[in-house]
Amino acid sequence: MPAYVDPIERRLLADPVLLGDIAEAVGGPFHVLFPERVSLNIKTFQQAFTAAGVDGFVYFGKKANKAACVVRACAESGAGVDVASTGELVAALSQGVRGEDLMVTGPAKSDELLWLAARHRALIAIDALDELRRLGELELPVRVLLRVLPEGSNSRFGLDPMELEQAIQAISGSITLSGFSFHLSGYDVVARSELAAALVGHCLRARANGHPADTISIGGGFGVDYLDAQFWAKFQNTLSANWFHTNPATDYYPYHFPVPGAAMLSAILDHQNLAELLRDNEIRLAIEPGRALLDRAGSSVFRIQGVKTRTAQGNPYDILTVDGTSLSLSEQWFDSEYLPDPVLWPTRPGRLTPTCVGATTCLESDLLSRRRIPLPRRAHLRDLLVYPNTAGYQMDSNESTFHELPLPPKVVLHAAADRLRWTLDATSR
Ligand SMILES: *Cc1c(COP(=O)(O)O)cnc(C)c1O
Repeated sequence: MPAYVDPIERRLLADPVLLGDIAEAVGGPFHVLFPERVSLNIKTFQQAFTAAGVDGFVYFGKKANKAACVVRACAESGAGVDVASTGELVAALSQGVRGEDLMVTGPAKSDELLWLAARHRALIAIDALDELRRLGELELPVRVLLRVLPEGSNSRFGLDPMELEQAIQAISGSITLSGFSFHLSGYDVVARSELAAALVGHCLRARANGHPADTISIGGGFGVDYLDAQFWAKFQNTLSANWFHTNPATDYYPYHFPVPGAAMLSAILDHQNLAELLRDNEIRLAIEPGRALLDRAGSSVFRIQGVKTRTAQGNPYDILTVDGTSLSLSEQWFDSEYLPDPVLWPTRPGRLTPTCVGATTCLESDLLSRRRIPLPRRAHLRDLLVYPNTAGYQMDSNESTFHELPLPPKVVLHAAADRLRWTLDATSR
């Protein structure tokens, strides 16, 4: 199941020495990031707003990746950042994102986070009534959105209709009600579009009570297309436990996503002409994509430090041990598996070899790939295994120094005119 790759990654994989040189320099597993691709993804969303004639703004959902080069790309591309902790807020500021371009989300925000957000004039998505009370006590001018609990949802986030009413009543003095927000799990276009239309109604009622209420945020959850439709359909239709070293996962990300990213935004704006409703009422639409801004913007590289051969139903297959852990791929920690095929580097001709991939830990279950992937040749010690498209949630959301292994550094790759150039990300220096 080969993943779609960005042109810069294709260049990296085709370069006969660069990956090997980086591996030698950093001496362990590492992640590679392509910030130019983040800028391109941001631009694609901005163009979708322009094409629909909607005043829109992109905030990057920062929890999806910690790299400094990603927020730097946001600052340079006219995007803001959606943060949920003081660490994320400071990291965004330190890469040049202005306070006024920050959106502060997350439940039960700490006093420190609220104070910093107010000091930096960030937009604050209120998740509970006491946050409003605590903001009022700061006596600083602040702008807030009220995060709405969607009807019929049992989410632990957001304000229910009673709380919403109380919140609107409570807002006065130093607090400005800028509008309303939501964030839905799942990837449904219609649900997002129709809830957005409902929030426009909330804005109009709030305006009648003298609030500016000119902004709504529809959160994140813009899908990413990792795999071609045919590969994905074949996987789903012929899935067999025999393909796996141990039991397969039961739940997977929808790795083929027909209307991803900015195209999904266009579909949301198109449904029942949401774009016109926003225009007619002069409402600015904020979005908070995390994963979608990182599409094809990074990969994770492991060095092979062991190769064993096992047999299942009479068929031999290899089990690799790489120099990192499945914490750098994250999906196993949600009882799932990352399915886009890793690339064995350097590429050489050979014999198709079913291969699964274990971690350099003493946990039986710590496998990066339980699936026996048909690699184009046998892997050898010191070869590299490159997992593609890992920047969105895969690479660093669950990493730890388990076994006292160092955290894999992040390498930033730029396409210079003559060649690819690399440096360490500011978070890895
Ligand atoms: C996680 C999160 C996002 C980003 O979600 P993606 O699925 O990565 O797009 C945006 N907004 C809020 C409030 C979130 O919690």
